[in-house]
This record gives sequence, C-alpha cells and structure tokens, in this order.
Amino acid sequence: MKVSEPALYIHIPFCISKCHYCDFFSLGGNSAVSDAYVEALCAEIRERAEAAGVEKWTSVYVGGGTPSLLSCEQLGKISDTVKKSAFLDASCEFTIELNPDDITKELLQALENCGINRISVGIQSFCDKALNFSRRRADSLKNENALKLIKQFWKKRFSVDLICGLPFESQESFLSGLEKAISYNPDHISMYSLTFEEETPFGKLLNQNKLDYDFEFSDSLWLIGRDFLESKGYLQYEVSNFSKPGFESLHNLCYWNHKSYIGAGSGATGTLYFSDGSAFRYTNKTDIAEYIKGPLNCSLDEKIDTKTSVIEFFMMGLRKISGVSEGAFKLSFGKKASFSESVKELALKWQKKNLCQVNYGGDGEKGDFSFTLGKSGIIYLNRFIVELLSLLEGE
Ligand code: SF4
Repeated sequence: MKVSEPALYIHIPFCISKCHYCDFFSLGGNSAVSDAYVEALCAEIRERAEAAGVEKWTSVYVGGGTPSLLSCEQLGKISDTVKKSAFLDASCEFTIELNPDDITKELLQALENCGINRISVGIQSFCDKALNFSRRRADSLKNENALKLIKQFWKKRFSVDLICGLPFESQESFLSGLEKAISYNPDHISMYSLTFEEETPFGKLLNQNKLDYDFEFSDSLWLIGRDFLESKGYLQYEVSNFSKPGFESLHNLCYWNHKSYIGAGSGATGTLYFSDGSAFRYTNKTDIAEYIKGPLNCSLDEKIDTKTSVIEFFMMGLRKISGVSEGAFKLSFGKKASFSESVKELALKWQKKNLCQVNYGGDGEKGDFSFTLGKSGIIYLNRFIVELLSLLEGE
C-alpha cells in the first residue's frame, strides 16, 4: 500500500560521549560519522521512498545521537538525497538537532545552503554543576556562545531543549537558565522532566541508592518553569513542548497526530498508516555494521492491527493540549468510525473533576465530540491512559 505524503526522520546514532541520563540509541566515542553510514542512510531513504510511493515529504527531521557530527559534505549528500527522493517544498519544515559545542558560523551557513530551515539546540541547562554531573560536553559558557552564534548567523527558526530537574539544579539556577535561553528569542522550547531509565548511569545510581533525588521538587520546578514560559508567550501545546503561536514543531505533531512517517538509519522506526485503519511499522536494528551492509535488510517488521492503532491514536493525541477529536479519528479510521460510548463517558467523568474539557463542535451532543485533558489534566495523562486502556482493551 502507498503512503504519498509522510514525514521523514533520519537517525544519526553517534556521539562523542554519552550523557549520563540519556537512553537514546547512540554510540559514544565517535567524533565523526563514517561515509559508509551516510551511504547506507541515503540508500535507505531512496528505497523506502520508492517502495512507499512517496510523492512529497511533509517534514524532515535529522536527530540523534549527534547530527552535528556530520561534515558539511555529508549534510549536503543527505539533503540532496532527500530532495531527489520526493518533492520537498522550500517552506517544508526541515530540522536538525545540534550539540552546542559543534556550532560554528560555517556549520550554520552549511545548514542553510542545504535547505535546512530549523535547528534544535540541546542546551539542557546553564548550571555548570548539573551539566558536569550529567557529563554534558558543553558547559554554560559554551552553551551561551552557541546561542550568540545563532543570534548572529542564523535567521531561521530555532528551538532550545532544556531538562528540568537535573541533579544540582536549584530553582534559582533553573529559572535564570530559562530566562537566559529566552533572551536569545527561540521560537520553540522543549522542556523535559528528567527521567531515570534503568540502563543509564543516572538510573543505576538511583537504583543503588547512590543518588539523593527529590522528585517532588523536580515536579514543582517543572510547573514553575511552565508558568514562567507561558508568562513569556511560549504556549504549551504538548506535554513537554512550548512555542510562540504558529511555531509548533510540525514534525513532532505528525507523531502526535497519528500521521505516517518514514524512519531511516540504524535504530530508526517508521510507521505507515493505511486507510483501512491498520498500519505497518518497522524498526531498524541497532547493529551499525549490519545496517551498513544492508540497510533494507535489517528491520523488524510488524503489522499494527486497528485496535492497537486506535489505542496509539489516543495515547499520542492526548499528549497535545488540543487533545483528540472524532473528526481526526474519522480521518484515520474511516468515515464511519466514532469514539465509543465508554471513551466519551470517561472524558465526561474527568470533566467533572475539572481535569478534562469536552466539546461538541457547536452541534450539541450530535456534533464532533472532542476532548482535551488541558493544562490541569495533562499532568495526570498517565493515569488517564491507564483508565482508557482498560476500557479499550475490553472492547
Ligand atoms: S543526550 Fe544527546 S549528546 Fe548526550 S548521549 Fe544522548 S544523544 Fe548523545
């Protein structure tokens, strides 16, 4: 089956060193990306685009790992391949993640020459003790120098990533860091809560009781940060994402809106949704040597049945402040599809607790049913999903 207008995600799984909180698939100890990997990546983009019948990319995102380890030539090769594999409108959102200490005037110029029009910079914090303990490459000075270079030499869209609640971060240091980031006028800010994944050094420290961590403080800090960002005109549109109006990340919205995307690169995932409500998902193995040998022969493929796809529709859609609507549900699952009565009842039950807002699209109770957990309910998203799952799995 064909998917004519998906998004494209490109994975660069290499880092100079591993940060102690990070559980993304990336290999530390790499200060460059091999040409063989880039060749394999380009072959995969071409072949997957052709196999899926892609006519146009709706957004492109180069993530990692550390994509800013790519040379200017490699960046040019990848962007040429993307443009040749399907139509890419010049205004199409084309993002790359950058590590602050890789940013130079020359790199920013090369990105622009490639048609990249949005950068996402992993600042994470301005607290040196927190950065050092997390084994971030850049300290606060390098972070600030990167933002100065962006201010001087980058005239297109840019986003800043921050982590809330790193060990040694205080309320004062966190808020002054937020203020500093905002002073460079990014149009988008991702503010993630620190999570402890078992296999990371931070996760291990916590499990061995070697890290004294105050989760309540971290949660309260996130709420203070959220209110601060909103007071400065950065509106929350997803659990961890804030933007000035009109500057939401279109690429990430594709995941939350249940739209098809092709993934390329070792460890990348792609999901293609079909009009009958089913979907096809593949996940490339994380063995780089195997990937280079045969980028199209190292994926684990799965068919996603309609029931699972419906569950994912709610799990991803409810991450957005705009929530989910029956109109969007019909676009994904067909004109006759509608929210089940039990889902509607759950939304109405949460509305009574002031943790959900239900709308009928102006047509009274026969209208397009939509609901959102809103800013107050989204904090309890996981609890809502648990209740929702027990309903959907029983249907
Ligand atoms: S946070 Fe980024 S730079 Fe650090 S290890 Fe993970 S992918 Fe690499």
